[in-house]
Amino acid sequence: MRSRGVVAIGAATCVIAASVAASVWWVRRPAARPNVLVITIDTLRADHLGSYGDRGAQTPVLDALAARGVRFVNAFSHVPLTLPSHASIFTGLIPPHHGVRNNPDFVLRESVPTLAERFKAAGYDTAAFVSGFPLHRRFGLGRGFDVYDDRFPRGDAGSVAPYTERRADETVAAARAWFSRRADEASARPFFVWTHFFDPHRPYDPPEPFRSRFRERPYDGEIAFVDAQIGELLDAAGNGALVLVTADHGEGLDEHGEPTHGLLIYDSTIRVPLLVAGPGFPAGRGVESPAALIDVAPTLVDLARLTPLADVEGRSLRPALEAKNDSASAASPIYVESMFGRLCCGWAPLYGWRDGPWMYIDAPEPELYDLRADPGQLQNVAATHADQVARFRRGTRAAARASDAPGGTGAPSAESTARMASLGYFAGGADVTPSLRDPKRMAALAERMENAIALERQDPAKAASELRAVVAADPMNPLARRHLAIALSDARDYAAAIHEAEELRRMGDASIETTILIGECQRLAGRHEDAVKTLKAAAARDPRNADALDAYGRALVAAGRRDEAAATFERALALQPDEAEALQGLADLAIERGDIGEARRRLDALRARDPDDPGVNVKLGTVLARSGDLPSAIAVLKEVVDRHPGQVDACVNLAAALAKAGDTASAIVYFERAVAAGAANPVVFNGLAVAKLQSGDGAGAAAALRRSLALKPDQPDIRELLQRLESQR
Ligand SMILES: [Zn+2]
Repeated sequence: MRSRGVVAIGAATCVIAASVAASVWWVRRPAARPNVLVITIDTLRADHLGSYGDRGAQTPVLDALAARGVRFVNAFSHVPLTLPSHASIFTGLIPPHHGVRNNPDFVLRESVPTLAERFKAAGYDTAAFVSGFPLHRRFGLGRGFDVYDDRFPRGDAGSVAPYTERRADETVAAARAWFSRRADEASARPFFVWTHFFDPHRPYDPPEPFRSRFRERPYDGEIAFVDAQIGELLDAAGNGALVLVTADHGEGLDEHGEPTHGLLIYDSTIRVPLLVAGPGFPAGRGVESPAALIDVAPTLVDLARLTPLADVEGRSLRPALEAKNDSASAASPIYVESMFGRLCCGWAPLYGWRDGPWMYIDAPEPELYDLRADPGQLQNVAATHADQVARFRRGTRAAARASDAPGGTGAPSAESTARMASLGYFAGGADVTPSLRDPKRMAALAERMENAIALERQDPAKAASELRAVVAADPMNPLARRHLAIALSDARDYAAAIHEAEELRRMGDASIETTILIGECQRLAGRHEDAVKTLKAAAARDPRNADALDAYGRALVAAGRRDEAAATFERALALQPDEAEALQGLADLAIERGDIGEARRRLDALRARDPDDPGVNVKLGTVLARSGDLPSAIAVLKEVVDRHPGQVDACVNLAAALAKAGDTASAIVYFERAVAAGAANPVVFNGLAVAKLQSGDGAGAAAALRRSLALKPDQPDIRELLQRLESQR
């Protein structure tokens, strides 16, 4: 049995033959190389596009692309996880061979050649614009790109960790700016551009008008929004580019009991769209024979007449694209896996094998589906097809194993973990003894766990009680226990959080994240010297881990050891020059000791990273006000208030700056707005009272002072002022 996962034999010969063929062709016809635009849309099910038969879809741009190009009707991902799947797209290798098996704790090894490197070496301008944290450059996909734009704005949704996601319109704006700079520079080189959109990933939150239009189907609203943005992107890329559109995986949408993706490997999450359009391709062609994401890299290399990637496992779809041969790849099985359950929860790994009419899943309870009779994969016929099961099991395990050797694990980081977790992705459970339970029997528990984790920020107590129930049902699940500890910490029950994290360590988890979690809980519980000790050890264990250094720095600040804290934050910055936590720490230290120049420098660095971060801008505004530059302070704070009307701190500080600048009328407006927005505290009422007094409104001032004293009776100065006012009236 030959699979596209295990065609190692003879691969080297094929590469030599192919490169000879390519160079011969080059001598014969030195045509201009095509511009290439690769678009990946995260979490996009093929059957939610108009061109794939969804009558309710609003995807005119992609449908038009399908109409002028080739649509692969049966295209499949190898893994329902963002980073591993994109690694397959950009290397032409299945996950066991490129080594990236899960999102947060794997990094693509430097020794694996990538598509971008190949285009770069051939003289292309290369640029990538990605929209989700799983594709941050730290995970290794940036290699070969001149520009790798992975700036994710902080965002202000409390339910999502900051710096995780960028909306399609912002990503397209970044790509358009790159195209226009390139036009100004009149680059004579062709381009290879990859644009990744993250919007259809949960949480489903399309902007207007898509929000209203798709009130009942917000997932489809996100897709419609991305489709419209792709229209803008195609305009910027210009005519004549070779355009390839696909997705890294689909979305469960409750099929097989799975709302999102990652755990199971049915068609709901592994079937993806694949559209290719460009000059010379037949218009509106649909190719029925199966294609896989490992085919993308060899196809693009072939179409651009570049030297093939060494040892690539996919095959060029060019024969199918040029309508020469519709069955180029029909015969070979497609390997699928998910290590998510195994790596995160200690459940069994899932390996799948899609071969002609059969889909086999190698699980503790094996599954076999006859896709001709049962495309929805609902009737497991493994029990009555022992021969097929035995044959497929051998092939699947060979493919999965072939592989395990060259793993590409990277350092998991606490910051990564938090950002990944807010997207429903989790780091592995290190060395905890696995239960090897069958993932399909765990889907309901997985959903309960994921929902509980999503609640961590808004309602940590509820999240903790839910996660306690999950841990009770699945005690050897390291992910559930780690998040139980995090939820308890968010709920300020630090002793219980430390207890759960230490339990995790007793179960065998030796990860640095768990140590950081314990140290942070110690700091928050006021055990500052314990925290310093724990986190010093964590930072010493992995000196390249910026999260450990940040946490160590915070513990030192709490312990009053400010000089050591500053030196520690500097070490984190030396590792990563725009490390937000370290910059924040240094800015706060500078503000505390009144070093306005230094504070400004740090805050400006943070603004360079994300100009619209309200927390940073409020700090900058107060620093400017303290330095006496009231006009700048007012401008900065006013912008925050305009953009984030719910930002109470900005409102209060703006009012104070206006009062200080003598604009009492405006100050009163913003003090009152702050009160209306929930900032009912004595400081705000006192500020309001002073402003009212300055404007000659004695009665208003007295009313504000009374509210202040109602909240905090023990203010002798304020009480005296109120008495004076009342006696004057
Ligand atoms: Zn994804």
